[in-house]
Amino acid sequence: MTTVFVPPPPVLAPTNDGALFPVRRIFCVGRNYAAHAREMGRDPDREPPFFFTKWAETVIGDGATLPYPQATANFHHEAEMVVAIGKGGRAISAEQALDHVWGYATGLDMTRRDLQLVARDLGRPWDAGKNVEGSSPLGLLHPATELGHLDRGRIALTVNGETRQEADLTDLIWSVPEIIAHLSSLWRIEPGDLIYTGTPAGVGPVVAGDRLRLEIEGLTPLHIIVGTPAA
Ligand code: MN
Repeated sequence: MTTVFVPPPPVLAPTNDGALFPVRRIFCVGRNYAAHAREMGRDPDREPPFFFTKWAETVIGDGATLPYPQATANFHHEAEMVVAIGKGGRAISAEQALDHVWGYATGLDMTRRDLQLVARDLGRPWDAGKNVEGSSPLGLLHPATELGHLDRGRIALTVNGETRQEADLTDLIWSVPEIIAHLSSLWRIEPGDLIYTGTPAGVGPVVAGDRLRLEIEGLTPLHIIVGTPAA
């Protein structure tokens, strides 16, 4: 049988030891740092975590240039720690959750904030604000077998050398085990899934030419350049 068109290539994210991690789906946690919830005009009380999704093909790697996307005048950085799932499961308990984690990486949940806020305020889906070409920069993946599990450590984003976001992973409202427990109560998670765990306060706009650098203690830093709009 021939295919009607050439199938898209799989999305393969590099690991620190030269292997490739096949990316299946991207789940993102909304408002998982209290100070960020407040800056977005929301109550940081511990309401259950909520999730939105992005296509795997929105992943771009370290050193990439991200063309400034169409249809926005307010494209924001969101610095996030990313969890890579290595073992599938449904209705996983928080106690068992870390057994399903393959590893961790630095990541950015780049957001067309103007479109996201319109959608949010009208009670519409967030897709147009969030699920955007190139909007999921991902650093090198590190296996938990080498790294251990990340539950503390500094997370900081600079733009052109100036610190814009800075927090500690202990500031997460919902921990990684709790996130996996909630997520897997809604969907069966699968190997290759990525979870972007939410962003600290300090989100803000980028413009063409900006150089972003995200550091998370224990992980390889992630560098992204914002480019001019794609043709
Ligand atoms: Mn986010």
